Amino acid sequence: MALVNVHYLNLQDNYLFADIAKKVNAFKVMHPKADVISLGIGDVTQPLCPAVISAMQKAVTEMSDASTFHGYGPEQGYEFLRDAILKNDYVPRGIHLDIDEVFINDGAKSDIGNFQELLHWDNFICVTDPIYPVYIDSNAMIGRCGAYKNGRWSYVTYTPCTAENGFIPEIPKNHHVDIIYLCYPNNPTGTVITKTELRKWVNYALKNDALILYDAAYQAYIQDPDIPHSIYEIRGARKCAIEFRSYSKTAGFTGIRCGYTIVPKDVTAATFEGERISLNKLWNRRQCTKFNGTSYVSQRAAEAIYSPEGKEQIQKTIDYYMANAAKMLDVLRSLGYECYGGENAPYIWMRTPGGKSSWQFFEELLYGAHVVCTPGSGFGPSGEGYVRLTAFGSHESTAEALERIKQWGRG
Ligand SMILES: *Cc1c(COP(=O)(O)O)cnc(C)c1O
Repeated sequence: MALVNVHYLNLQDNYLFADIAKKVNAFKVMHPKADVISLGIGDVTQPLCPAVISAMQKAVTEMSDASTFHGYGPEQGYEFLRDAILKNDYVPRGIHLDIDEVFINDGAKSDIGNFQELLHWDNFICVTDPIYPVYIDSNAMIGRCGAYKNGRWSYVTYTPCTAENGFIPEIPKNHHVDIIYLCYPNNPTGTVITKTELRKWVNYALKNDALILYDAAYQAYIQDPDIPHSIYEIRGARKCAIEFRSYSKTAGFTGIRCGYTIVPKDVTAATFEGERISLNKLWNRRQCTKFNGTSYVSQRAAEAIYSPEGKEQIQKTIDYYMANAAKMLDVLRSLGYECYGGENAPYIWMRTPGGKSSWQFFEELLYGAHVVCTPGSGFGPSGEGYVRLTAFGSHESTAEALERIKQWGRG
């Protein structure tokens, strides 16, 4: 008899995007002529830049000839890409890492979900709330989160991030946590963390022997020069933090699949006997056993974004999305909506007017303006009373959505 992993049975079905689709479809059935615009999408819409396309075409051509063909690559990724990462993403910020502290992944989600398997099941995790659901769910899958009741997992520490506390998560005061997930710039709130605030978390981790898993998937959207792009800009972080990065939002790689994970050699976890074990070694062991590398073509595509043309081209697309975000903030605020984020991230976190629930406002916006948003309550208990709007649409559809919201307000 094959026994099932019962922890999977405790997972909540992630109905958020399915529920949204269902409600949008019901609306379309009743209003077949209405043209619905989505400000809910979490995917990019603009094409890959020319530098990436030509690097991929070249790589594909290499694959067509036995003398330049590439089979299995290194599990950790090709040196050409790992080297480009160090030289472009870290050295200019004064961060010096070794090449074997860089692991190329097939998108950050896999590594974020998998990294927890290096850690004993009865560590306590801490997350900011609202959050990207992968952090909790991947831990729940091995039973680390306890039981799910009233929208919360019993063993998870939630640190609320709301307008009331300026979206600054508070360090756990009265109890110890072992593993901390931070995501900055944040999905879904679009807010960022200052060096001063991030330093508090690093100091907590160093003092309390905790591990920080830092998701920097949106770092390319940071506009403010004082906001940290990497947790390693904070002294001591290389002793307590893992960093996940992705080309998905940086360069439109959601369909290409490539990113990387930094596992510094100084980061360790303890055995019950108190021996310190290097997580870099364990992660390498894990990857060599379970992962056969990201495709050669994807890694050449990623390398191309570090060329002078590549850098310029991806920046143009980021500017394109950020122009949407600026316009959204401008129009929505002028209409009296309370908006957060959107300045260093492609997300706007909007408080629902009049204390409405996230879902109630979602329906009103859909029926009144034919615009789709994402209910904030789908991202955790502190997301109730907010909705997430994304800047990933085209200029035209974003402008049209804003115009409709304006008209709806007048109606
Ligand atoms: C999109 C996103 C990622 C990146 O996922 P990929 O697997 O690299 O496409 C990581 N973290 C957050 C919070 C995201 O929104």
